[in-house]
Amino acid sequence: MRQSSTIVIIGIIALAAFVLLGMANSDRRVLSGWRGPVGAGEALVANAAAPANALVGVAQPQGRGLDAALVPSGNPLRAANTVITQGYGVGTHAPASVWGAIDLALDGDGDGKADPEGTWNQPVYATHAGRVTLTRDSWPGGNHIWVTNDQYRTGYAHLAGFAVSDGQWVNPGDLIGYIGSTGMSSGPHLDYQVWVWRDGQWVNQNPLDYMQRINE
Ligand SMILES: [Zn+2]
Repeated sequence: MRQSSTIVIIGIIALAAFVLLGMANSDRRVLSGWRGPVGAGEALVANAAAPANALVGVAQPQGRGLDAALVPSGNPLRAANTVITQGYGVGTHAPASVWGAIDLALDGDGDGKADPEGTWNQPVYATHAGRVTLTRDSWPGGNHIWVTNDQYRTGYAHLAGFAVSDGQWVNPGDLIGYIGSTGMSSGPHLDYQVWVWRDGQWVNQNPLDYMQRINE
């Protein structure tokens, strides 16, 4: 009898610790730990359950000295109602090493799902410093921007229009364009890619690893 009640108490303490740890983690990182596939049109998170400030204003250098501005950081839409409509390495983004990207759209009416009305022509911001390479009406990227420096390159596809010109240097948080549906796209969204220069070539990265860098 005494032994079994001791086991119950230990169980309760373990459960409480587990719950508290889980709460602490979920408060810190909205997109953290997510690696699985998300179907087209399926909302990932970024609103409802997430802290309102989780994805807002995070496209800023994070205090890593002069080089911080060169490293992609934060959400290119800089909006708390961002929804990931297609994840990294799935669907048209597979295989990840070739087509690795995430698709981002906005939830304009607060139902937790992306909608075209809230997404069309919304601003897109550079997530790091670099030089713009601008391509109009390309395939599959449509109106496309690369922001490139010696270490990193980010891609912004399917844009409705540009807010920068070819060859222009941009800094983190600079407005570069507007969300559209040009190129291989069935509705307005931003296809966002991150690449790192490693061993003499561009290597595709999971953008979520860079969007997570909120409080570091
Ligand atoms: Zn895409």
